[in-house]
Amino acid sequence: MRVSELFTKTSKNVPADETSRNAQLLIQAGYIYKEMAGVYTFLPLGKKVLDNIVQIIREEMDGVGGNELSMTALQQKDVWEASGRWDDKVIDVWFKTKLASGTELGLAPTHEEPLTALMKTFISSYKDLPVYPYQFQTKFRNELRSKSGLMRGREFLMKDLYSFSKDIGEHNEFYDKISAAYDRVYARLGIGDITYKTFASGGSFSKYSHEFQTLSPVGEDTVYVHEAKKLAINEEVYTDEVLTDLGITKGELVEKKAVEVGNIFTLGTKFSDTLDLKYTGEDGSEKSVFMGSYGIGPSRLMGLLAEHFADEKGLVWPEAVAPAKVYLATIEKPSEDGKVSDIANNIYEELTRANIGVLYDDRGVRPGEKFADADLLGIPYRVVISDKTVASDRIEVKARTAQEAEYLTRQELMQKLGIPT
Ligand code: ATP
Ligand code: MG
Repeated sequence: MRVSELFTKTSKNVPADETSRNAQLLIQAGYIYKEMAGVYTFLPLGKKVLDNIVQIIREEMDGVGGNELSMTALQQKDVWEASGRWDDKVIDVWFKTKLASGTELGLAPTHEEPLTALMKTFISSYKDLPVYPYQFQTKFRNELRSKSGLMRGREFLMKDLYSFSKDIGEHNEFYDKISAAYDRVYARLGIGDITYKTFASGGSFSKYSHEFQTLSPVGEDTVYVHEAKKLAINEEVYTDEVLTDLGITKGELVEKKAVEVGNIFTLGTKFSDTLDLKYTGEDGSEKSVFMGSYGIGPSRLMGLLAEHFADEKGLVWPEAVAPAKVYLATIEKPSEDGKVSDIANNIYEELTRANIGVLYDDRGVRPGEKFADADLLGIPYRVVISDKTVASDRIEVKARTAQEAEYLTRQELMQKLGIPT
């Protein structure tokens, strides 16, 4: 992608109406645009980051047998009435609207009800189980507070997977499998070391649910971390009973602030009973499908990553999510013979052919402006072609996290960027 063709621009000014660092940085760098509090548009580069996060999650969900689908945001009220969750006192973040005829509709804050109803079309026998549908879908929640930028949106992206199993044994097996897949997601996003599987309140079918909490000074949740065991306890269930269950003592735990980046939950037959999702077992008897739900917030993760991977110059994206791996910048005087841009064009083509994302700053602006943008945007490598690098037959490359640039031959550069030569 050429910077000259990008409609977004960076800004030197910190947006005055944003208190969260993630939104400030992402708006300044032109990754997102604020529509209103808690409602953000993903601009071209921001969409790339979000898509990269989504793709990592998708690969891990497919790896445990997930089937991706895409459900509607508009909801009819009857399925939600059947489960008892249409009531604003039960779900206090509903956005509701009406058809022209006056029929009430809701904008889905989550999808247990419609998916359970949908699965009645496809599940009738033990042979149809287990199945694991999931989606990346926009959720709507009228959140009371929305001061955390992307981390608490009123319209946000969620990966929600639901498990439909024959019984609790089959369910538990999957629960452990997806828990391990979640660990892989956070490791691939570069936050594995600060993300803790956390004991949280369960429901009527299991004593606990599990949240995945990433330590962060701006987190809204309080957790008690056991570093050696790599687990944590949410303050909502922090009692002597839990400590006994886990065989740990208060003294081993450290209180921390954290952001919930995902959760896994045993639903049991709560939804299958109320919405009548049954199957015929091998013995011919009718049974309720045993369910679980598993959420991850890709847009919240993007906010968290922006918050965590940043310095005084701007963002510092991990390679796995960066909108491009390389920021290629030319420094060319108008009097020059075009050699600088010839070489840059050529490198741009070679990297693109090798499937390496490049943001090619081909604009005729001051070098300082290009360097400041490369830093603010947080692209992992900055590659510079100038009359000096041409004269010395070297290419300047600087990792976003490094203090000093290196001067490499073209072959060394390609090796550094992971292209076999
Ligand atoms: P929280 O306690 O932070 O409100 P939640 O318990 O309501 O989260 P779930 O309903 O389980 O969250 O949603 C699944 C995942 O979706 C969460 O783990 C989180 O990563 C993400 N998520 C929830 N609410 C929001 C939001 N308002 N904005 C962005 N992501 C969200
Ligand atoms: Mg919530």
